[in-house]
Amino acid sequence: QAKKEKEKKVIRFIRSMKEDLDEQFKLSTHLRKAIEKDELSVYYQPIVNINTGELISAEALLRWKHSMYGNIPPSKFIPIAEANGLIKEIGDWVLIQVCKQNKKWQEEGYKKIPIAVNISVKQLEEENFADKVLGILKNEQLDPEYIELEITESISMSNLDRVIETLQRFRENNIKISMDDFGTGYSSLGKLKKLAINKLKIDRSFINDLNGQETELVTAIIAMANSLGLNIIAEGIETNEQLNFLQNKNCLFGQGYLFSRPLEKVSFETFMKNG
Ligand code: C2E
Ligand code: MG
Ligand code: MG
Ligand code: MG
Repeated sequence: QAKKEKEKKVIRFIRSMKEDLDEQFKLSTHLRKAIEKDELSVYYQPIVNINTGELISAEALLRWKHSMYGNIPPSKFIPIAEANGLIKEIGDWVLIQVCKQNKKWQEEGYKKIPIAVNISVKQLEEENFADKVLGILKNEQLDPEYIELEITESISMSNLDRVIETLQRFRENNIKISMDDFGTGYSSLGKLKKLAINKLKIDRSFINDLNGQETELVTAIIAMANSLGLNIIAEGIETNEQLNFLQNKNCLFGQGYLFSRPLEKVSFETFMKNG
């Protein structure tokens, strides 16, 4: 009897694994057509001075609305795009959209702010990635100080040299780099220095759970960043309690639902008018 139960469990497990693979394959196929079918769009989440609420920049976040399946979150399709190689095409598309849009906003007289774009490790490891980004900026006639790149800590050692070279070129050309999801990976201070990072974004999971050890960690990260002259951005601020804590620790910048969710273009324009 126990054996039968166990067999059933195994079968259920295999079936669910097969379903996952089927789903991934299906998503992969649909994702290939998503750009052509105009199913992708860029949302913008305000990043503010947490003491004054003043808008200082924004993060571009990709959205995919499939005609049949509806909204598919980036946590689901970005890993697939990274695995099947589509991330390069999608990443280029996002960069171009953001540069075009930011240029347009500047021409329309909105306050000039930098917009941060998430960059996958796969893009960062591309040959000539820096040239490509600089080429896009030139094409769109956007000043490099109005684009920022968010990278994660998952840069592999084998490609470290090329990545360092790429980041160095960004620095020479006035493009700022943020370390995203800071605290979840394994970056040493030495690595941050080598990578020519300008900003740290404290991962949402730490802000979410500000008790005991988390508090100490966040306090230490902020103090360290301040002493290194790195800007700090706290991600995922949802409550006034979290806001007060961060203000007391001299964290200057933040983003989160307390200030605003990611907004589609027109709503973000309204936010810019009022912020
Ligand atoms: P991320 O870069 O860390 O982006 C922040 C995520 O936190 C976003 O999720 C945002 O919607 C969410 N968030 C912001 N404030 C709050 C809050 O107060 N509470 C909660 N619960 N969540 C908050 P999103 O848009 O689902 O994106 C997830 C991840 O997908 C991003 O994490 C980023 O790693 C990746 N991603 C999104 N767009 C792109 C893109 O264009 N290219 C690449 N390579 N990755 C992207
Ligand atoms: Mg990010
Ligand atoms: Mg993050
Ligand atoms: Mg993330």
